[in-house]
Amino acid sequence: MTDFNLSLNEDQLTLQKWVHGFAEDVMRPAAEEWDEREEFPWPVVEQAAEIGLYGWEIMAELMMNDPTGLSMVVALEELFWGDAGIGMALMGSGLAAAGIAASGLPEQVMEWVPQCYGDASDLKVGAFCASEPDAGSDVGGYRTSARYDEAKDEWILNGTKAWITNGGIANVHVVVAVVDPELGSKGHASFIVPPGTEGLSMGQKYKKHGIRASHTAEVVLDDVRVPGRCLLGGKEKLDERLARVRRGESGNAQAAMQTFEATRPAVGAQALGIARAAYEYSLDYAKERHAFGKPIIMNQGIAFMLADMATEIEATRGMIWRAAWLGKQRAFKNAEGSMAKMKAGRVATWVTERAIQILGGYGYTREYPVERWHRDAKIHDIFEGTEQIQQLVISRAISGLRIE
Ligand SMILES: Cc1cc2nc3c(=O)[nH]c(=O)nc-3n(C[C@H](O)[C@H](O)[C@H](O)COP(=O)(O)OP(=O)(O)OC[C@H]3O[C@@H](n4cnc5c(N)ncnc54)[C@H](O)[C@@H]3O)c2cc1C
Repeated sequence: MTDFNLSLNEDQLTLQKWVHGFAEDVMRPAAEEWDEREEFPWPVVEQAAEIGLYGWEIMAELMMNDPTGLSMVVALEELFWGDAGIGMALMGSGLAAAGIAASGLPEQVMEWVPQCYGDASDLKVGAFCASEPDAGSDVGGYRTSARYDEAKDEWILNGTKAWITNGGIANVHVVVAVVDPELGSKGHASFIVPPGTEGLSMGQKYKKHGIRASHTAEVVLDDVRVPGRCLLGGKEKLDERLARVRRGESGNAQAAMQTFEATRPAVGAQALGIARAAYEYSLDYAKERHAFGKPIIMNQGIAFMLADMATEIEATRGMIWRAAWLGKQRAFKNAEGSMAKMKAGRVATWVTERAIQILGGYGYTREYPVERWHRDAKIHDIFEGTEQIQQLVISRAISGLRIE
């Protein structure tokens, strides 16, 4: 087991500086435009791909070649410091990649993860489709069905997925579907829907409060037929797992939950980047803005707010880094990933709201970025498990009881 160490190694410091450079030079100047356009920022993602900041190789490097677990969260904090909407456009394919890696056989990972990214000359994105219009937190309520056609060795998918990042514009859609409705969330499996498959279409595209450069839409599956090899993990493993569950033996954790749990410290790092952006901006502003003949920071009312913001950000980073390290060592004890994600969402929402307060009327306008950061921060209390779902996970972990 690697020791938990708060000093970043040389590679991580280089990574941090490199990502920060892209965030400052490319993402920050583009942020307002893509937020207003509310469209996927293809040219910016292309620029990221050209320097190797978007692609399966960097994801593999961050996810697999780092025994400390810290590289991913360090990189994400910088990206989301640059801009959360574009940051999410860069990271959305990672949800699909993580879904494939969580349930797929090695050959499936090799085949499909690169197709979630393409390359700079032929950019692609991936989508992870779990949530449904009537079931977000309640994963046991999914209705999208997967039926096996043995004669053709094909799976037939039917249903509607909601809130899907990159939904309908993705090259590869990873779809969580119900193979045995009797088994609730233990009767799910994940499927690849390859590019150009008939029957998959985009439903409504959502108009959102924040992260507006990230594309979020419904995905409609109407008699979508995929070959048997598109079942992640393969049929043999699925049949064994379902048989174990039917015998009352504990099955593996549900496919969707596995993916979400593994990504929680990373989602916290996204929120942390937004919080830091807002804190730094409002600190500078408070030193420059004069009222009653002195900089507003000379009033304790403002300075103490900034002191609290800085403290919350430091505390949150400590939790995220430790959770990322624990996740890598497979050593979670009390749902520390959920704790870090929940704390980070709350802190980002609070810090960005305080930043608006410090900027006064200017903070409330779209001339200044803090209102956008506040809108962008809020999603971190909602996706990848709401604040209340994190509380549920944590309270079950600390009590050992099935809290409802
Ligand atoms: C911008 C965006 C991008 C997203 N991207 C994806 C994606 O790529 N793939 C994907 O699959 N999903 C995605 N989601 C969906 C997201 O994960 C869900 O919105 C989230 O899980 C909440 O589900 P819901 O919206 O149905 O809310 P609900 O589950 O209906 O919850 C509504 C409220 O009830 C509370 N609640 C629910 N159950 C309980 C309980 N047991 N105890 C206490 N409180 C409870 C919730 O905390 C919340 O406050 C995205 C969502 C958004 C907004």
